[in-house]
Amino acid sequence: MSKTILVYAENRDGKLRQIALETLGAARLIAGDGDSIRVLVAGSNITEAVSALNDYGVDTIYTIEHDDLESYNPEAYMAAIGAVIDLAQPDAVLFGHTAIGRDLAPLVAASLNAGQISDVTAIDTEGGEAVFTRPLYAGKAFEKRAFQNGPWVFTVRPNNIPAAEAIDGANASIEDITYPAPSLRSLVKDVVRKTTGKIDLSEAKIVISGGRGVKSAEGFQPLEELADLLGGAVGASRGACDAGYCDYALQIGQTGKVVTPEIYIACGISGAIQHLAGMSQSRVIIAINKDPEAPIFKVADYGIVGDLFDIVPLLTQEFRKVLV
Ligand code: FAD
Repeated sequence: MSKTILVYAENRDGKLRQIALETLGAARLIAGDGDSIRVLVAGSNITEAVSALNDYGVDTIYTIEHDDLESYNPEAYMAAIGAVIDLAQPDAVLFGHTAIGRDLAPLVAASLNAGQISDVTAIDTEGGEAVFTRPLYAGKAFEKRAFQNGPWVFTVRPNNIPAAEAIDGANASIEDITYPAPSLRSLVKDVVRKTTGKIDLSEAKIVISGGRGVKSAEGFQPLEELADLLGGAVGASRGACDAGYCDYALQIGQTGKVVTPEIYIACGISGAIQHLAGMSQSRVIIAINKDPEAPIFKVADYGIVGDLFDIVPLLTQEFRKVLV
């Protein structure tokens, strides 16, 4: 029997997020012949996100546009998703494992009395059964899970599942859904952004992180220059945040953000277990530390023993020669 797969396509300020395409990539992995992939875009200004999605060969794009959806509010978003679920009766609902996806997925799973698998990093469909891999114990072990029965609800960790690719001549049917306008018990009055970073840390392909070794807020400047040049984002250890060198929004680790970029460059970070919990799944780890015994070198693919204030500007200089 054919399945209906509903993908929640996250957008920010009306722009489609990369995780939306990765979640769509996950939908393609579990879809069989004849299955229908449908996408929900919700927000207050979604024209651009909807038109971007149109190229990806989905069957239906459900759109819900309303002022209540301008800033994330679980009550409003659940009402919007609930309206689409009532209509589409999906067999699977997929979210990115982002702050919003982590909040919405369990609400949706509970409303559907469905099972949920969180933080999926790989999906194997060999043998006809979808088996989902997710890290445990801060990446020290992996668990493989499968659903016993439906509906399925799962979240996909950013930067792990290949993003769906555009399909020539794709043309989705677009269905505007009326927002059910529930009376909200709480309202978002204002959102004050703490980071000015151009690239979202949890989605960045390259992350340059600084630890206590950067020694001051100004010490982050060479890291920012390198990140700008490479199109990456700047992160930090808790040591650097606690010392007041940067905002806690940059913290990576057990009590910070979990990142899995293509390249993670740790500068002046010792490699405490709590920091590794947030970055050890990165594809390539490069460590710069003046202490050859620093534990970060045990997880690094490439290690540079030296002073970060010499090494980072040198890297920037060399990359500039080939990139600019
Ligand atoms: P340090 O351990 O002080 O290391 C600084 C490193 O910089 C040293 O290795 C030194 O050799 C090197 N260095 C110094 N100068 C230079 C230079 N000029 N050039 C090159 N290298 C240099 N930590 C996190 O990061 N994220 C978390 O989420 C987190 N959660 C925690 C939760 C709990 C419950 C607890 C107890 C701790 C947590 N920590 C977390 C803190 C963690 O244990 C470490 O204290 C912290 O990661 C250390 O930060 P650091 O590596 O920047 O500093």
